[in-house]
Amino acid sequence: MKKLFFAMLAMIGAIPLFGAEKIDLSKVEHGILVLTFDDRNFAGWEMAMPLFAKYNAHASFFVTGEIDKESAAKMKKLQEAGHTVGLHTKSHCDPVTGLKKYPDLETYFKKEIAPQLKQCKKYGVNICTLAYPENRHSPESDAFLGATFERFRAGTKDKPNDAGIALSEVPQLAVIGGRGLGSYYKTDPAVVEKSIRDAAAKNQMIAYYSHDIQKGQANAISINVELLEMMLKTARECGMIVVGFEELPRTR
Ligand SMILES: [Zn+2]
Repeated sequence: MKKLFFAMLAMIGAIPLFGAEKIDLSKVEHGILVLTFDDRNFAGWEMAMPLFAKYNAHASFFVTGEIDKESAAKMKKLQEAGHTVGLHTKSHCDPVTGLKKYPDLETYFKKEIAPQLKQCKKYGVNICTLAYPENRHSPESDAFLGATFERFRAGTKDKPNDAGIALSEVPQLAVIGGRGLGSYYKTDPAVVEKSIRDAAAKNQMIAYYSHDIQKGQANAISINVELLEMMLKTARECGMIVVGFEELPRTR
């Protein structure tokens, strides 16, 4: 009810909408599954929306490229269904390699992030998170971009094994390291299932990243509907919640 009230206020422009409502970690008993998808795979993401809804699950989608009216509408549709939508830079340029192209992080921000933010603002898409392209980042980029973003998604360098993360560590975590899902990352569904079950049993958070969601055989860096449903089903069986980045509490 309270959520509806604020949503109505936001609709008439009385208050801006700042991110999603945070979950109460003290009430989580069987862990958290975090599923993230990068780049620009709007068709596959939209196709999977009913599947996420079936399992009462929210994912996070990080968008690269030009954010025009059409892509903004797709981002809003995902947000309105409770998913997190974040940025993935204008030309898929990470802030480490980016410093070969741009003189400093300020210029990197101006060229790669500010144009996306400006378009999101124009079309009313609220943004709090960023997935680093190639999962590449530095302490400097985390600090500099931390003024704009609440949290970042990175990869296996930040989480080198399949083990989950203690929930008590989550609010302080600026960068969430995910495991890649897809044949390129040598994903073994049995290992994924076991990792989810282990994280649930230990009441931990476990995060993954992929790109598109496809029917049948997925491309090397994407997952198919079957794998996604197996993960969602496993989480449900374990009593694990599946939430978007913006729903995770953040303290600094
Ligand atoms: Zn990417």
